Amino acid sequence: MSAFLPYGRQSIDDDDVAAVVRALRSDWLTQGPEVDAFEAELARITSARFAVAFSNGTTALHAACAALGLGPGDEVITTPMTFTASANCARYVGATPVLVDVEPKAATLDPSCLEAAIGPKTRMIIPVHYAGQPARMEEIGALAKRHGLAVLEDAAHALGATQGGSPIGSCVFSDMAMFSFHPVKHVTTGEGGAITTNDEKLRDALRLFRSHGITKDPTRLRNPSPGPWYQEQILLGHNFRLTDIQAALGRSQLGKLERFVTRRREIAARYDALFGPAHGVEPLGRLDGTEHAFHLYVVRIDFAGFGKTRAEVMTRLRERGIGTQVHYVPVHLHPSYADRGWKPGSFPVTEAFYAEVLSLPMFPDMQDADVDRVASTLVEVLGA
Ligand SMILES: *Cc1c(COP(=O)(O)O)cnc(C)c1O
Repeated sequence: MSAFLPYGRQSIDDDDVAAVVRALRSDWLTQGPEVDAFEAELARITSARFAVAFSNGTTALHAACAALGLGPGDEVITTPMTFTASANCARYVGATPVLVDVEPKAATLDPSCLEAAIGPKTRMIIPVHYAGQPARMEEIGALAKRHGLAVLEDAAHALGATQGGSPIGSCVFSDMAMFSFHPVKHVTTGEGGAITTNDEKLRDALRLFRSHGITKDPTRLRNPSPGPWYQEQILLGHNFRLTDIQAALGRSQLGKLERFVTRRREIAARYDALFGPAHGVEPLGRLDGTEHAFHLYVVRIDFAGFGKTRAEVMTRLRERGIGTQVHYVPVHLHPSYADRGWKPGSFPVTEAFYAEVLSLPMFPDMQDADVDRVASTLVEVLGA
């Protein structure tokens, strides 16, 4: 029996371990030079002017909403086919999430649904680059500009992806982009996240919010400084900092991003070639003018057409050493959202997608033989 294949996992080498050990033996476990170096490297890789690291992707999203000054009465648009954090961030600052449906091809925000959702209270759009496929940023960005809205990319799945030749994170059509460094994402810091931006004011606001809202910057103090100890809390921030131990791991991992993404694309191409209409396993569509980062390898299966339930198929696969997952339970169907008035049936494309979707194992250390085993076992389990 071969080793169990999870749907995603980290890839840690001896040099990653050595980087962490170096950080542990250094003078700084947090608020030190590793965080700055990690941010500089992430900015370089994404072609953004600035990167600000956070304790995780969720706190990064929260800080981004705060940096824009969003609050009660403001509306933030995102899609229901995402991890709930994409919508939760609006609620953390007292704003209201508004959901719009996805397009059937790629399960990314459908620009044709946007206009109708934009009203006088709308302040921001959060497109999600689902599975690593960049959303239609050019159209979304143009619409946002026309209505004077901010755009925050949820790029948790899309480090290493490009659109129109620009890296995701370069913020060509957005104000900010958020990344996550959870172990299933492209590079890991255990827990970790970041925002990239080209806007210096946003960079400063993100940093302030990340560290209690406390500053020593003489230009921002309300009172004259009585001495070198003096600092002021000028707004209510949080402790959302990444440690130097984590940043050291992250910087070591960023050095391998290109290799990781290349391998993910090879695995995706191999799966694509193994599945086809004949098998009833349909790889999720791709959008033109983009390079996919394949955080997830997602297929659609008409389970009922095979006379099976998805739960049965997942259980059979697990018995054969293959982990799969469903990304995602739509945001509006979670009780914490349903309690706020959303009803099943509100987003037909998302709900039809949810009924058929399955994420297959996808991580850089997978061998070609693993990919072949997943594909043949899935086809067998479906046909059995
Ligand atoms: C992982 C993820 C997040 C949140 O990141 P964490 O680092 O886990 O807090 C947000 N949005 C999406 C789409 C994600 O996949």
